[in-house]
Amino acid sequence: MPNCLDYARFLSRAAARRQPSAIREATQLFARSPPSTISFASGSPNASLFPFKEATITLKDDTTIQLDSSAMAKALQYLPTPGQADLLEWLRKLQIRYHSPIDFKRYELCVTNGSMEGLSKVFELLLNTTEPILVDSPCYSGSLDFLRGFGANIISVNTDSNGMNAEYLNNILSNWSDSNTLPRVLYTIPNGSNPTGASMSHERKKDIYNIAQKYNLLIIEDDPYYFLQFKKPDPSFLSMDTDGRVIRLDSMSKVLSAGMRLGFLTAPIPLWQKLVYHQQVTSMHASSLSQMVALKLLEKWGLSGFHQHTEQISKFYENQKVLMVNAIKKHLNGI
Ligand code: PLP
Repeated sequence: MPNCLDYARFLSRAAARRQPSAIREATQLFARSPPSTISFASGSPNASLFPFKEATITLKDDTTIQLDSSAMAKALQYLPTPGQADLLEWLRKLQIRYHSPIDFKRYELCVTNGSMEGLSKVFELLLNTTEPILVDSPCYSGSLDFLRGFGANIISVNTDSNGMNAEYLNNILSNWSDSNTLPRVLYTIPNGSNPTGASMSHERKKDIYNIAQKYNLLIIEDDPYYFLQFKKPDPSFLSMDTDGRVIRLDSMSKVLSAGMRLGFLTAPIPLWQKLVYHQQVTSMHASSLSQMVALKLLEKWGLSGFHQHTEQISKFYENQKVLMVNAIKKHLNGI
């Protein structure tokens, strides 16, 4: 029987207050209704009035993906906040393929406008201003900039070539002066850390996870470089999450396109629900057009085609690394 966390303890005051948006819930209902349904509720414009009819996109291998008029109509319309249903289904399969989460029924997915949007919402879900968050040191500047502006108390945890240093983390927590203000959240980039490039070993992840259990921390796993690793990455925090204490953020930016702004988060359902409420009243949902283009591509490729594509990408960057290391050895030798 998996552990069950008291998620209310992790919510920020703003997140605890968030309630469903009636208009966005109506969109969700409408999406599940028969095509003959006419909704007067959600302010959906008539898609037949949009100037775009259909599109053919040519891929690098000269094959094409087609957005016929029905796909285009969907790609131009509001979507339920978590995302396009077929794309979500596809992404669920992707998570199972790469992470085989222990009890995937406990998690839901939400497509975001890049993982940065997801991250900012996750930070706001879990933190009130001045509250502490444990982060890798050094850490991705985009997240630090958000957290500084937000007013979080950023607690830097030293890293080494295996990522966040577990001993250092344990020291910080065991020496914390006031047990009432102990951090509840740990943020880490486990693979190809930005900026160090370090990746966490399985052993290290187990150590960090054990500490998270001991101090009842949630782990934010920000993993945009997962598919770029030169060797198969060690199991993710999501894959070892027995307690439902991991929120994972994935990104399509380094794999399909940075400009499409497509990311997706995987979170235990009670946390996911509050994230969706937030998304309902901010971006409403990630771009329908980007989601439809990605879906058509992924349906054409299947999981194996996607995997092959990511292997080509990691090979490319590995070659770039070799070139760079050789150039450094040649031109910066002795400096
Ligand atoms: N997290 C890390 C560690 C990153 O390096 C980046 C971008 O480079 C992001 C998140 C944001 O990615 P996205 O383009 O999906 O918003």
